[in-house]
This record gives sequence, C-alpha cells and structure tokens, in this order.
Amino acid sequence: MNNKEKLEKLAKQISNCTKCSLCEKATQAVPGHGNPNAEIVFIGEAPGFYEDRDGLPFVGRSGKLLDFMLGQIGLNREDVWIGNIIKHRPPDNRDPLPEEISACKPYLTKQIEIISPKIVVTLGRFSMNYFLPNATISMSHGKPYLVDNLIIFPIYHPAAGLRSSSLKLQLIQDFLKIPDIMKGEQLWTSQA
Ligand code: URA
Repeated sequence: MNNKEKLEKLAKQISNCTKCSLCEKATQAVPGHGNPNAEIVFIGEAPGFYEDRDGLPFVGRSGKLLDFMLGQIGLNREDVWIGNIIKHRPPDNRDPLPEEISACKPYLTKQIEIISPKIVVTLGRFSMNYFLPNATISMSHGKPYLVDNLIIFPIYHPAAGLRSSSLKLQLIQDFLKIPDIMKGEQLWTSQA
C-alpha cells in the first residue's frame, strides 16, 4: 500500500471511531487532508463548525489565515498535510478533554508515522503540548524542537491571530521561519 492508501484506510477507521463520546454529536470525522508524502505537516486542535460540516480541516476563518501564510512561503494546501489532534468536533468548540486527547492519540501518531514529514508545525497550545507536554506557548512559539528525530515547530493558533493583532504579527513572523528550518538553517533547541 502507498501512503495515500494507508491514510485512506486509517481515515475509514477514524470515521467509524466511537472511542469517546465526541462522535455522538459531531456530523462527521475530520481525519486530515493534503499531500500523503508531505515534508511539512500542520497540526491544529480540533474541528470547528465548518470543518465538521465539510469533513475537512481548517476551512473556516482560521483556515483562510493558514492559506494566506502558506502562500507567503510559496506553498498551498496540496503541498502540505493538515490535521488535528482531535478528529471529531467538541460541542460548542469547547476545549478537548484529556481523555478525548488520549483516545484520539493513536490516530495522529499513525498518520505522522505514515507521512514521515521533516517538520511538524503545531498550531496552538493543545497541539504543542501533544508533542512537548511541559512547554508553554508564550515561551516556546517560534522555536524548533527535536523530539524523537522529528522537528516540532510550535506557533500560535491562527484563531489566536484573528483575535489579537499582536499575536497575528508574531504568528506570521514565526511562520516565515519555516523555509529556513526546512533548509536546516535554524538550530533547534533541546526538548522543552
Ligand atoms: N481549528 C483547529 O484547531 N482545527 C481546525 O481544523 C479548524 C479550526
């Protein structure tokens, strides 16, 4: 099986998942989308209203900002892979619970194993803490970390950028570092 087929097989399992109660209220699962052989993977928190409706990650306002920033580094959605740590929408977009995060964890672990990217860009604190449990977003954003041979690059969530113009500026500044990190021109700090 190639990566596309492996991800599709996993997406079917995710769509049928009942390991936590989020599936009861969600319209559908949002397994992830993009290039199955991507060198860059973006990981958000959980689907929101529009993602739940369309079955695709980051299709709402946060997604528009993500698309804009991708364009600034000469990329589009089909060059990268985009997913979330939680695959079903939490009711009213509430924060995911620890038990929901751990129930969903094996899916993202497997997706990253299949894609085998060079860098995982985490969007927001939930996604960052999935890889760097002790990190705080205010201290760690914009710094690449090496975790189990994978570069983890935490940045603010686009939704935070939409709420605050100073965070948006910071988010864009951090985002623009991605090409240098890809070229190995940024040293990465040890694990937080
Ligand atoms: N916010 C996220 O964290 N993920 C999405 O897919 C959309 C909005």
